[in-house]
This record gives sequence, C-alpha cells and structure tokens, in this order.
Amino acid sequence: MAFSQPAYSQPAYSQPAHAQFALDPLSAPVGGYGGVAPVVAAHDLRKCYGVGDAEVTALDTVDIGFARGRFAAVMGASGSGKSTLLHLLAALDRPTSGTVVLDGADLSGLDDRRLTALRRDKVGFVFQSFNLLPALNAQENIVLPLSLAHRRVAPDWFAYLVDVMGIGDRLQHRPAQLSGGQQQRVAVARALISRPAVVFADEPTGNLDSRASDDVLGLLRRSVDELNQTIVMVTHDAGAASYADDLVVIADGRVVHEGAVESRDAVARVLEAAR
Ligand code: ADP
Ligand code: MG
Repeated sequence: MAFSQPAYSQPAYSQPAHAQFALDPLSAPVGGYGGVAPVVAAHDLRKCYGVGDAEVTALDTVDIGFARGRFAAVMGASGSGKSTLLHLLAALDRPTSGTVVLDGADLSGLDDRRLTALRRDKVGFVFQSFNLLPALNAQENIVLPLSLAHRRVAPDWFAYLVDVMGIGDRLQHRPAQLSGGQQQRVAVARALISRPAVVFADEPTGNLDSRASDDVLGLLRRSVDELNQTIVMVTHDAGAASYADDLVVIADGRVVHEGAVESRDAVARVLEAAR
C-alpha cells in the first residue's frame, strides 16, 4: 500500500504560511538546501554538563539546519555529542546557550508548559531502546501522543500506518510480547501518528538485527519519500546512514562535515577522514 494517499497529504492541523520563513535568513544555514529555510535549525548552540573541573562541553557552537522532507543521518564517535544535539533540537533538553528554531518557534522563548506542548505536537522521537510503555498494548502505545493531547485519532490514518508498518495482527500485544523489530515498528508508527514537523531517531536500529534494521530504515525512508516527513537520525552504522539524503558528522561537539549521502562506501570514507 502506498504512503501517498491524497487524504493524508496534508497535516491534520494547518501551519501558518510564514512558519518556515520565520528564521533570520542571514543566520539560517542554506548550504546544501537550495536556499530553503530549514524546518529545524540550531544557531551557536552550546551545551555543557557539570561545573568547575567536572565541566564537559558536549556541544560547542553548532550551526546546523535540516530541510523539510529530507532524511539526515548524524554520525560521529561515541561521546561526540550526537544525542545531546538531538535532544536539544527535539526540545527534550535546553541548551547552555544558543538557539533552536523548530517549525518557526524559537524554543528559548518558550516556558516549560509551551515546550511540552510543542514537543507533543511537532516532534516524533524514536529511541534505540524503543521506549514503549510496557503496560499498554501496541495500539494504545501508537495513539498515546494523540491521547495525551486530547486529539482525535483519525481511524483511516491509524489503519493506514498500521498496515504500512505491518503490525495489524499485533495491536493487542504488549511490548514484552513483541520482537525488537516489531516494537520499533510500533515506535515508528507512534512517532508518525501526530504528523510531526520532525521525527528524531537516536540509533533506532542499534538493538535490531540486520533484517529488522532494514525494515525499520525502509519505513523511515518511505515516510520521507511518500509523506514528505523530515527525519534526523543518529547512527554509527554507515549502512543505516546510506538510507539518508544528507550526512552530518560531529566530532568533539562540533560539526566537522555536512554533505549529501552518495553511498555506503562514501559515508565510510567521510567517517574515516573525520577521525
Ligand atoms: P553521543 O550520543 O555522541 O555518544 P552524547 O551527546 O551522549 O554523545 O555525550 C556527549 C558528551 O557529553 C560525552 O562526553 C558525555 O559523557 C557527556 N554527557 C552526556 N550527557 C551527560 C549528562 N547528563 N551529564 C554529564 N555529562 C553528559
Ligand atoms: Mg548517543
């Protein structure tokens, strides 16, 4: 079944027409994006943990933008700051300094209540460890973001996602009764159900075997190609990154490479050069 049914081609809620142009055009990174304002962007982003001698600079003056309807892979050595960047972009954490603009909203201007609402409405997140709620069955997990927002579940959209994810016969199962691959497909459906501005995925295939990895990566790819979803995915696997359009490499909290993904081998060469 194709992802691109006309009935689902628009978000359930309307976006202000000016939203994607709300960034300062002079500070928005445009390289590689054909001049299109990014749907999520960071400017001069810094994140430090700890104080005094124990202070760690996890991210150091990062400027980066991600264009709508593209699939980006973020790579780098363990501890280089990939998860920190994802958490800041997804409004899961606040920076030490610098700004994040997500779908036209400057996150630094939002109090906790608005940040929570924005995260709920505009962001999907897929974790390495699936993070499904163990007491809820698959169906309840998928619709949770809408339940929390008191938003209606469109039955056709739900049925459609379940069909594409191939989990129609597992909806009444709890996470513990599902394989890792099935759990992650449920998690991808949960991330997509609210039609978020951006889906962030942190090592989404890190706990999966290669067959389940390919399934999940293929589904993420389809959501970009057929639903114009924007995805930012952290991975350490060049094979996983080769599903993406764009590659960002981080080393010691700084962006050291930005470019198109050409092939798995090319990704591996870029990584080798960045070491
Ligand atoms: P990656 O995802 O690339 O492996 P992280 O973003 O998790 O890297 O971490 C970047 C750096 O920040 C590392 O040095 C890590 O130890 C440190 N760090 C991450 N989270 C915390 C935290 N909550 N408290 C202290 N240090 C942290
Ligand atoms: Mg990490």
